[in-house]
Amino acid sequence: MERAKVNQGIDLSAYEDVWVLGEQREGKIQPVTIELMGEGRKLADQLQKKLAVVIPGYKIESEVEKLLHYGADIVYYMSHPLLSSFSTDGYTSAFVQLIQKKKPEIVLVGATSIGRDIGPRIAARLGTGLTADCTKLEIDAEDGKILQTRPAFGGNLMATIVCPKNRPQMSTVRPGVMEKAIHQETAAGTMETFIPDLSENDIRAKLVEIIKEEKKQVNLTDARIIVSGGRGLKSAEGFHLIQELADVLGAEVGSSRACVEAGWIDASHQVGQTGTTVRPDIYIACGISGAIQHLAGMNESKYIVAINKDPEAPIFGICDYGIVGDLNDVIPAMIAKLTQK
Ligand code: FAD
Repeated sequence: MERAKVNQGIDLSAYEDVWVLGEQREGKIQPVTIELMGEGRKLADQLQKKLAVVIPGYKIESEVEKLLHYGADIVYYMSHPLLSSFSTDGYTSAFVQLIQKKKPEIVLVGATSIGRDIGPRIAARLGTGLTADCTKLEIDAEDGKILQTRPAFGGNLMATIVCPKNRPQMSTVRPGVMEKAIHQETAAGTMETFIPDLSENDIRAKLVEIIKEEKKQVNLTDARIIVSGGRGLKSAEGFHLIQELADVLGAEVGSSRACVEAGWIDASHQVGQTGTTVRPDIYIACGISGAIQHLAGMNESKYIVAINKDPEAPIFGICDYGIVGDLNDVIPAMIAKLTQK
């Protein structure tokens, strides 16, 4: 793979605009794209620059066009048969070509499996830096650089990183952390189609078949209510009670890492620094102590309800409603009340 030398003494003024490298799967725009557009809009407004979103794909114009209703000034549609589904080589090469042509100042990528794969490759080819797994982005009022904050040392401190000399400034951003851009009836921006120079020989790994997992998909990122269980459940059976409450509320089931490590529940349910970051309307933490690594993934929830038998549990320090008691008494009482005719 070609790797650019780190840019030294480049003309920073040649770089404009805030970009989101968007994602589609099977022709459907992914929610992380709308979240990054929400954050990108704020950054672009502060810098008085344009917000652009780039989507790779093939024969999905009408889906891509919808992004004009989420506050984008420009939607770049990178259209090519070799971009119809994800490939590391195809996506990396296409994004690099367009970035080199248009020179954005800031590039945001989702910290998803796709973004974590291509983000560092794109940065390396452009000879710039990348801050991975950001949870907060701000513009420095003094010099207009982006301040990129991410957890460091196992989540024990938050590091703020700047990219002083190279452009674009690139970040991967955790899904579920940023507020989504709001849908608008009118579309003010423009759509441009870019056809990258790609050939079969550029792509070393071929997609043979997509096999969907049969198990129920857990969608913690989009859930409005999450009922989450911790070690206080004592066993895998404890999750039956959590599931029961979740069913009554139309909620998803979350978990602390302790339960995943104990083998009580699948890792796809884990909330936290090394699990999924969530921001539901209501997060109900049952038998979860409130370790910093768990809080890192859920403290942006609108309302946090905690059930814990220890009044000193740290979760009570951040919750909106706290119930001190045994979850085996509290949860059945909640279910009974909610299902009362
Ligand atoms: P505990 O801390 O053991 O808490 C159990 C709680 O249940 C206690 O507060 C207890 O009072 C209460 N309880 C017990 N019985 C009952 C009862 N009958 N009724 C009511 N309450 C009861 N953790 C995560 O969750 N997500 C992560 O992504 C994550 N990432 C990590 C990354 C790193 C690098 C490291 C080092 C750790 C990470 N952890 C993560 C682990 C984290 O530090 C904690 O160990 C974990 O969150 C604890 O889970 P817990 O709250 O379920 O268990």
